[in-house]
Order: sequence, then structure tokens, then C-alpha cells
Amino acid sequence: MRAGNPVGPHENALGRLWAPLVPWLAVALVVMKFGGTSVADAERMRAVADYVARTVRRGNQVVVAVSAMGKETDELLHLAGQVSDTRPGREMDMLITAGERKAMALLCMALHDMGISSDSFTGSQAGIITDTDHTKAKIVDVRADRVRGALAEGRVPVVGGAQGVSTNRDVTFLGRGGTDTTAVALAQALCADACEIYTDVSGVYTADPRVVPEARRLKRVSFEEMLELCASGCPKPAMRSVEFARNHGVRLHVRSAFTWEPGTWIEEEDPELEQAIISAVTSDTSEAKVTVTGVPDHPGIAARLFRALAERSINVDMIQQNVSLAGTTDISFTVPHEDLSTADEVSRSLQSEIGADQVLADPDVATVSIVGAGMKTHPGVSATMFETLANEGINIEMISTSSIRLTCVVRADVVDKAVVALHRAFKLEGE
Ligand code: ASP
Ligand code: MG
Repeated sequence: MRAGNPVGPHENALGRLWAPLVPWLAVALVVMKFGGTSVADAERMRAVADYVARTVRRGNQVVVAVSAMGKETDELLHLAGQVSDTRPGREMDMLITAGERKAMALLCMALHDMGISSDSFTGSQAGIITDTDHTKAKIVDVRADRVRGALAEGRVPVVGGAQGVSTNRDVTFLGRGGTDTTAVALAQALCADACEIYTDVSGVYTADPRVVPEARRLKRVSFEEMLELCASGCPKPAMRSVEFARNHGVRLHVRSAFTWEPGTWIEEEDPELEQAIISAVTSDTSEAKVTVTGVPDHPGIAARLFRALAERSINVDMIQQNVSLAGTTDISFTVPHEDLSTADEVSRSLQSEIGADQVLADPDVATVSIVGAGMKTHPGVSATMFETLANEGINIEMISTSSIRLTCVVRADVVDKAVVALHRAFKLEGE
């Protein structure tokens, strides 16, 4: 600790003392997650440390979960690909988690310079216990004794994100975006007042601001809506962490690590508040479409096809089938782009067995979705969506719905136009 900068347990205790008297001094235990772009270089690292230091000086307790710097995870994955064809899971996890390990140590060093005592912890040291599923392990328990101990001593625990130790005592990686899950799991285990996800966007928007400049930041969004937004193309926060947060009742605050302004709260739907009919428009270009035409209308055909796809671990998203009067049907489904060639191959291999006319693989599709809790109780939302697309001359190729989402498959080259038109049609730009 530097002499000129006396901050630590003492000031923390003082903050606690004053808190009941001065509301703006309210003490809180906050878990802060910082993503790769937030700590991309030395300057960003120090900016994040400065923000953490200021939060601690106001009397709060802070636990940090940090991602690997910048594109480091991608670089490590790339490196592994250059070295090895087999890339054993155990070694991949040891390699990838090194990115977060580097970041957590550097962040602690920067904090020390600012007079804040802090300790870095690997996922293992922080007590993040996972299953043995390497490269995408799931958290099974959090035994955060050391994190609690550091807090009790007035130190800032900085935990390496997206990692843990398996029930077999091997280092595990929680998967891409896993640092969000680390933060939520720590928030739950420590009964934190909030879990803040700091990132390079300042919250959840009514549409991607790069596509719709007048898109507006949402003040709040329900867990259910956020899950639908994640599933339909909203890149942040990571879907698994939102599921975890919903299951454990952890409120999330997604906000900017660049402007530090308040962002979007993700929390339980408030039954007292009237729900927006539509909260946001999303799009997704990550999927492709396969159509199997002219299959006979018999029991077991879809079962045969989708079992074969499942056996190749293909994650099918939308499925559509409709029986014609002639007794044959077309089956269309969407899969991630990277699975298109396998899905095409599997479908072709069954073509004669299931009596299909043709198999068509189509990479140039995209989905556009509208999501809103209020659509459950408002008629006419689908009509407005379809009319809006019709007015733009956009053809709808598939439709899928949940109780709070409507999704249309369209040509990929018109999807941005669809997003802009729907954002306007549902008046999302105005408060
Ligand atoms: N660094 C890891 C990734 O990019 C984990 C994370 O950022 O959440 O996926
Ligand atoms: Mg990341």
C-alpha cells in the first residue's frame, strides 16, 4: 500500500459505519465482471483498476471476475490448432485458462499500485468446482472460502474467469463467454447485492445500434426476455450466465467499462409494471437452412431424419413441416452454418430410404426476431410484423414463435432492412 494513498480495511469499515446515515454511501458487495476488451491492454487494465479502486474507496466490497485480455483466447485456440490435431480437452483447458490467469495477476498489480490490496485467484483457488466436461465444463459447486477470507481482510479478490477445477481435480474451462458465468456464480455464492457485467457495449439495446442508429438502451429487461434475445442473436451477455442468474435469482447489470454509465438491469419480471409489447428486435446470420422435399406423409420419417442428425451432434434450431393434400410434405430446418455440410450429407444419405425428392442446402438465410413479454396479452403483433416485412418486399421463408418471441427466416441480404423496418413499426426509438 502506498503511503500517500491510504485505503483499505479501515476506510471500508468507515464506509460501513456511515452507510445507514448517508444513503449515497450505501455499502454493497458487488461482483464485477470485466470482459476481454475492457482489459485489452495496459492502459485499459489501469482504467479498470482505477474504477475498482474508486468503488472500494466509497466503502463497497468488490469481487472481480476477469476475462483474458483482448483476443487472447482466440489466439490460444489458434495456437493449439497449429500445434496439434488431437487437442486433448484436458490440455486445451490448461492452455486457455492461462489467458485469464495472466489478466488477473496484472489487474492485481495495477490495484496494488493504487493502494488497494488485492489477491488473484484461479478458478480452482476460488473454489469453483465443475464437472469433468473439458472445454465446456459446468459449475457444480462454489466453495468460495478463500474469496470470503480475502474480503474479510479488506482485500479485493480478483478471480480468473471461465475456469474451475473438476471433480477429478483437473483444471477446466467453462466455455466461451464463461467469465459471465463465473461472475454470476460468485454473486450467488457470496449473496452479493449485484452482479455487474462490464463490457464494450453500454447495455442491452432495442436493436443493434450499428444497424439501427436510433436504437435505445433498455433500462430493464426480464430474464425471460433476455434469454430469448440471447437465443435470437443478441451477443451479450452469454446465455448460460443469464440462465444461471435466472435459476438463482441473481440480478444482472450489463454496463460499459468505457463510459461507466448505468446500463441495463436484467431481473425478474415485475408484475406491477406494464410490460412493453415489444422490447427489442434482433437478427442472426449464424444459421443455414436445409429443406427435404416431397417426403411421404408416414409416421417415423421425421423421427428417422432427426435421429440421424442428432447422432452427428447437429443442433437443429427451427423445424417446419406441413402436410399437403397430395400426401407428401417438405421438411425444412435450420442448423448452425458450421453444421450445414454435415446436415446436408446426413439428409442426402437418407434421401432414398425416406423417399424424399430433393435435399436443398441454403447458406444465405438469416433470422429476424421481435421479443417482448407484452406480446403474450396483445393480439395483432404477428400481423404487424408480417405486414411490415411485406411492405419492404421481404419474403418470409419460415416462421417460429415462443410465447414472447416471433422469428422469421428471410434472405440474409435483406435482414438489416428488416430490423430497421420492424424497429420503426413497433416505435422502439421513442421512450
Ligand atoms: N476469455 C474467454 C472467452 O473469450 C472467456 C470469457 O471471456 O468469458 O470466451
Ligand atoms: Mg470474452
